[in-house]
Amino acid sequence: MSRLLDRLQGEIAALDAQSLRRRRHIAETACAPEQTLTLAGTAAPRTMLCFSSNDYLGLAAHPALAEAWAEGAALYGTGSGGSHLILGHSRAHALLEDKLADWMSPHIPEARSLFFCTGYMANLAVLSALGGADAVIFSESLNHASLIDGARLAKARVERYAHCDVAALDAQLAACNAPVKLIVSDAVFSMDGHLAPVAELLALAERHDAWLVIDDAHGFGVLGSTGRGVLQALGLRSERLVLVGTLGKAAGVSGAFVAAHRTVIDYLVQRARPYIFTTAAPPAVAHALLASLALIEGEEGARRRARLQARIAQLRQGLQAVLPADGSAWLAPSPTAIQPLVLGDNARAMRVAARLDARGLRVGAIRPPTVPAGTARLRIALSASHGEADVARLVEAVGDALGESLGEPSARPSQAEREAA
Ligand SMILES: *Cc1c(COP(=O)(O)O)cnc(C)c1O
Repeated sequence: MSRLLDRLQGEIAALDAQSLRRRRHIAETACAPEQTLTLAGTAAPRTMLCFSSNDYLGLAAHPALAEAWAEGAALYGTGSGGSHLILGHSRAHALLEDKLADWMSPHIPEARSLFFCTGYMANLAVLSALGGADAVIFSESLNHASLIDGARLAKARVERYAHCDVAALDAQLAACNAPVKLIVSDAVFSMDGHLAPVAELLALAERHDAWLVIDDAHGFGVLGSTGRGVLQALGLRSERLVLVGTLGKAAGVSGAFVAAHRTVIDYLVQRARPYIFTTAAPPAVAHALLASLALIEGEEGARRRARLQARIAQLRQGLQAVLPADGSAWLAPSPTAIQPLVLGDNARAMRVAARLDARGLRVGAIRPPTVPAGTARLRIALSASHGEADVARLVEAVGDALGESLGEPSARPSQAEREAA
């Protein structure tokens, strides 16, 4: 027993020594651009302007959703009482699945949907259930951890393909004679913000008799004229599509869904262990999500998507103007709410993040191994609830921090950094 504890403590100490130990901050208030946080290792809460949430439409603290949540709890109670196959499947869950199937029906013939407690579980479910022993999973190399873990759980053989490399994938598929082939990709890459070549991937799926599993965690609610996500944005339609959408990001609540041809969904109900062997999410969550979908597809959703686009354009224009001319910091091309400012080495990324921190701005600094070595970055996440002044404040602070940190030896932290540390 104590040997196990010693071992774990040793590993934690090693992480600490490499500045890789993760610590949790405590949010004292609801998710919003201005949030009161008790930062790890500090005692006093601070109110900060945050650019790091996945709440892209600013719905996570919307009063209409809190009201729907309360109404759902009054109607159905707090707990579902069981798994979906043993009476935990409420009318609210069924209505939500019908609505999502309806949303995806222009893109997937005979679409049905299945609601999951989380996107992580949905990805485990899809890949472990469809990726049987006779299948091969073709996995995009920048895929989200939940897709990687789903592929590990599957009995299928897994082949990675190089990031967005359609030609390489084409050759890999051509060389494969497995009866079941699954191409698996994020729609929007979570550390980069750019889109996968989804239309090209679908063409490959058609050509090679494969399925295309798309994880639209960062596109659902944001992309497409009424927020239905990447399939709507690109106008795609095929019965080979299996779409995973998450409902804890732009939709502002929690959970996820899989949309696919009804035979695929029927099969998942029979075989997907992360669906079968878990307690159904509270029906109130599904009830609140119905209200969220109504907002997303209505005028309010359209207004919020337009606001988000305006902030994205403002940020990109503003940052381009303050970036150093030597190209030592660059804004990756991204049309989405995820805007990575690549700074290169880890120390510089941490230094810039600390400068922002000292000015009351929170932006995630992402380092290897989450991103490739030499591409440490600030991952700026925008939301429709950011105001023009918020983005202006960030642009100014980034410009100042980059100006100050150029050519400065990395070993000497400033007063502000020492205070923020
Ligand atoms: C967040 C995320 C998930 C997991 O969804 P949760 O509902 O948070 O479990 C899956 N895939 C991608 C690409 C994500 O960004």
